[in-house]
Amino acid sequence: MGMMTTITTAITDKPMPRKRMCRKMAGLPEVKGFRPFDREPFRLPPVIITLDQFEAIRLADYEKLNQEEAAVKMGISRPTFTRLYEEARNRLAEALIEGKSFIIEGGEVSFSSVSFRCSDCKHSFQTSKEEAETTTACPKCKSTQIVSMNDFFLKGCQCRKNWY
Ligand SMILES: [Zn+2]
Repeated sequence: MGMMTTITTAITDKPMPRKRMCRKMAGLPEVKGFRPFDREPFRLPPVIITLDQFEAIRLADYEKLNQEEAAVKMGISRPTFTRLYEEARNRLAEALIEGKSFIIEGGEVSFSSVSFRCSDCKHSFQTSKEEAETTTACPKCKSTQIVSMNDFFLKGCQCRKNWY
């Protein structure tokens, strides 16, 4: 019994893990993911690329920044960027080589703005993070059926259950 107490205490007293810094992201990806051309798209579980991994690829391979510059853009250290970038490349390679779909989702990211899409009239609009808190309707058609694209990318989509 005494031992149990000791163990419990030891666990409780463990220092809280350092809060990881959110990685800055310039914007959202164009699409939620990619599917293989001539196969059943979800015959295999998809590879998940997180938003911060996507941003690493975008900065290094698309904007052609060096890793030092890319790390600054994301607000992280150079070694952290390197690990993030390598993991992103590994996952992309797995999807390419094994013919898997991949989905861009989740990750430790922070945005300066929020993108919404209206489910009724398909209008897209952006607000600041602060404005997003009180945004409840589409500015064009006044519909309240608006979807935060940031949440769509961060947390996923309910329709996913139909994908497998
Ligand atoms: Zn609308």
